[in-house]
Amino acid sequence: MSKQPLAEDFYRFKIGQFNCIAVSDGSYDYDPMHLFTSMTQVQVKELLRDYNLPTDRIVSPYTFLFVNTGEHKVLVDMGAGNLGPNTGKLVKNLKAAGVQSEDIDTIFITHAHPDHIGGTLDEDGKPKYLNARYFMWKDEWEFWFSDEAFREVTEHLSQIVPAEVFMKVARGQLGPVKDRIELITEEAEVLPGIRVHFAPGHTPGHMLVSFSSEGEELFFTSDTVVFPFLLERPDIQPIFDIMPDMAAASKRSICDLVAERKALVLAQHFPPFPGLGHIEKKEIGWKWQPILIS
Ligand SMILES: [Zn+2]
Repeated sequence: MSKQPLAEDFYRFKIGQFNCIAVSDGSYDYDPMHLFTSMTQVQVKELLRDYNLPTDRIVSPYTFLFVNTGEHKVLVDMGAGNLGPNTGKLVKNLKAAGVQSEDIDTIFITHAHPDHIGGTLDEDGKPKYLNARYFMWKDEWEFWFSDEAFREVTEHLSQIVPAEVFMKVARGQLGPVKDRIELITEEAEVLPGIRVHFAPGHTPGHMLVSFSSEGEELFFTSDTVVFPFLLERPDIQPIFDIMPDMAAASKRSICDLVAERKALVLAQHFPPFPGLGHIEKKEIGWKWQPILIS
């Protein structure tokens, strides 16, 4: 039996002249009881029931983005590597979509959490993307290689994954490619039609990437909002945000921006794959309008 790629492995679409592919790295199951520390278990269960979601786990897709602009072959983030039992499929799925890892010339690193950079190196510790240069926010790099990082990560994230894992992945995966990383300090059009946007809070140097061609626009919003229901409940803060107030402010400005511009959004952790849709502004918060793919 020949193996057809599954519908959830990759999905092609266009933004003007740019050929885009949403590519799955897999998914990860989170225990919802660990995600919202300001709420009691009863409140978390009620919240999930309100949105018809299972209360025992939240399945988070790990979706990444490849864009061929004609001039550049670009990847946004590199997947989780072997973080979970169902992650690390990005290179395989890129290949199934006809993209070889060595073809990619530019990689944007939105932030250095394990699900975004765990797939930087292969099992032998060599870069998976041999011909790529990387862009990353300067504050992000400096945070993960600073002494304060371990303390901050222990305080905020150790309920999800041990702090050592966060530190080991960030330093272990990015350290060896240091010479190829260009550190960004201001919002700019980094390559023709590709802009970076500073959206700190989830991590100190969390950034987004947008693509525009012929009047069409796509925002890869990374971890600005990690679950769709959090758009409607701006009062709820997920545990992942290291700097909660700043994350909430970034969420407001980014959601307002993409809603106003009516831009297409690839919301990386929104089910179902490929996480494409629009964000609509409401009196309180926003609403996710997914584009459903048959
Ligand atoms: Zn993430």
